[in-house]
Amino acid sequence: MKIAIYPGSFDPITNGHVDIATRAASIFDEVVLAVYDAPPKRLLFTTDERVEMARQALRRLPNLRVTSYAGLTVHFAHQAGAQFIVRGLRVISDFEAEHQMALTNRELASDIETICLMTRREYAFLSATIVKEIAKLGGPVENFVPPHVAQALRTRFGSAEQQKVSVIPTQLLRD
Ligand code: ADP
Repeated sequence: MKIAIYPGSFDPITNGHVDIATRAASIFDEVVLAVYDAPPKRLLFTTDERVEMARQALRRLPNLRVTSYAGLTVHFAHQAGAQFIVRGLRVISDFEAEHQMALTNRELASDIETICLMTRREYAFLSATIVKEIAKLGGPVENFVPPHVAQALRTRFGSAEQQKVSVIPTQLLRD
């Protein structure tokens, strides 16, 4: 059995994450999407909320399950019986971070291989951070996240009407 974990913050899960998870599920026998409970960044959603949104987004994949984890990613990989860590690559800056993380994880656990999947062109600009920024400013996020996640973001930030914001600042689109 080839088992992979796909770890990350998933705050919240986006269509880019869904695409990587779906492709990983077609490569490996079993995939565990692993929601890291305390990443070194400010979170919008709780661990339970992030897990629940990911579960709902990926429930059509029979060989993928979603769970949270704490501590070292390689320890969780061992616990899950996984031999692989899947990550997604968008731009050069992702490569630098993933390269450093993959080499560090190899030092910690030489039996775990990191596999990076290249994003699809349409998701290359997409990050959970930018989706949160757009939602915060009352912009539409329906094209970037599954419908239940868009709803959760609207609930968290309120609708555009409530905020009286009608356009996304062009600065945001350039970043
Ligand atoms: P982390 O906080 O560990 O970076 P994220 O939830 O931001 O976790 O992302 C998890 C993984 O998914 C990372 O490898 C990230 O590069 C990848 N990822 C995020 N967004 C996309 C996207 N639009 N396309 C492809 N991969 C992505």
